[in-house]
Amino acid sequence: MSTNPSESKVPAAIPPAPGSRSNVGRDYDFFKVVQDYLDRAAKAVNIEPFVRTILSQPKNELIINFPVKMDNGEVRLFKGYRVQHNNLLGPFKGGMRYHPSVTLDDVKALAAMMTWKSALMRIPFGGGKGGIKFDPHGVSKAELQRVTRRFTHALGDNIGPEYDIPAPDVGTNAQTMAWMMDTYSNMVGASSKQSVKGVVTGKPVASGGTLGRAKATGQGMVFCVVEWAREKNFDLEGSTMTVQGFGNVGSHLAVILSRLGVSTIAVGDHTGYLVNPEGFNAHKLQDHVEKHGSIAGYPGGKAITREEFFATKADIFAPCALENQIGETEANLLNVKLIVEGANGPTNPAGEKILLDRGVDILPDVLANSGGVTVSYYEWVQNKRSESWTEEEVDEKLERAMKRAYKEVSDLGRLKKIDLRVAAYALALSRIEAVYKEREIFP
Ligand code: NAD
Repeated sequence: MSTNPSESKVPAAIPPAPGSRSNVGRDYDFFKVVQDYLDRAAKAVNIEPFVRTILSQPKNELIINFPVKMDNGEVRLFKGYRVQHNNLLGPFKGGMRYHPSVTLDDVKALAAMMTWKSALMRIPFGGGKGGIKFDPHGVSKAELQRVTRRFTHALGDNIGPEYDIPAPDVGTNAQTMAWMMDTYSNMVGASSKQSVKGVVTGKPVASGGTLGRAKATGQGMVFCVVEWAREKNFDLEGSTMTVQGFGNVGSHLAVILSRLGVSTIAVGDHTGYLVNPEGFNAHKLQDHVEKHGSIAGYPGGKAITREEFFATKADIFAPCALENQIGETEANLLNVKLIVEGANGPTNPAGEKILLDRGVDILPDVLANSGGVTVSYYEWVQNKRSESWTEEEVDEKLERAMKRAYKEVSDLGRLKKIDLRVAAYALALSRIEAVYKEREIFP
């Protein structure tokens, strides 16, 4: 971790300059992208056509318009989504996103990716995802609570600890999960209250969450990066990284990697981008974001444009914000050895092709960020058994799970001569196919 004294001398972040906006929402069919990968993986390992057909669309797509009374007395209508992609291996499982760019198709894509992640990690969960199309930074905490509770109430029986289990994602956190669980537990009747804690994961520890969940996605990414470094004979000590998105995933990744000697030299979020060639103090920046909601105003970095951020030379780039951030332009700008995808779908297919042709390694989302759902599963098991595991137990289990998945994906990639993303999808598909072949379809 850097404790660079020069951090306090450079100006604070500014919003991105005009013309340096992200690609989000620009005619991008995220669901089609995920379907194309599904096709490529199905071909690579000869998946039965009927399995491919079933998995090509989610089982259920819910859209709920619900009213909430705002602080000023006005009633505002919100649009919420829950997509349940597949529950062959276990309950639907996946995050809830609060963001102005949430669309049904994006939620479908994210829900499908959860199905692959659970199967890849050998977790008895299926895939789901949901969210509300609004800006959580634009409402008060009391309004945020009412939005969350009203949405949970509207979802009703469509979620449940044995049926569909939400978790945090962009714009939501442990507090959001505490409100969701509390609302749900008040809907099931007094005698069932205690048994439904597992309706959500990513809860605060005191409310039935698990130690190690908050950092789990970043921690899982670190285990993957360590495996990659071992495979490539790359020394992480003294290496550099750039991070887009400094929320839950990005900040924990930076903090944990700083302990291994990796210095974060450029960061960005929805408010702008900052560089510090000496390395940021990841802990302090994390504290700043926790307090102020973004990197804006952090005194330890020089403001740069989005283009300058992507062009910053480093060993590792970690996209930890949103999908479709690395297109052709960004892929040509990037000057790194490794991309470790914390976000879901950050690299678009055109960008990916350029990067792979240039010899940049990509640890794909379905593998790299699956530490989150893995530790969510540990939380759910603890809730079922009324147990509390130590952080060391959680970390050890997660390390074993990530290393195994990394090895399986990398072995299959080598064997079939396919890239790691297609290999990760292929492994997941094979496991789901095996169960469909045994159980067949009803009736
Ligand atoms: P978060 O809300 O804690 O952080 C999101 C970050 O992205 C923030 O720093 C925000 O400022 C930034 N951001 C938002 N819009 C942006 C834009 N247009 N340009 C640049 N930055 C922008 O969310 P999170 O939980 O850290 O999730 C980040 C990503 O990781 C998402 O893609 C999510 O699906 C994925 N993910 C999260 C988890 C988890 O456990 N939380 C697990 C797996 C994958």
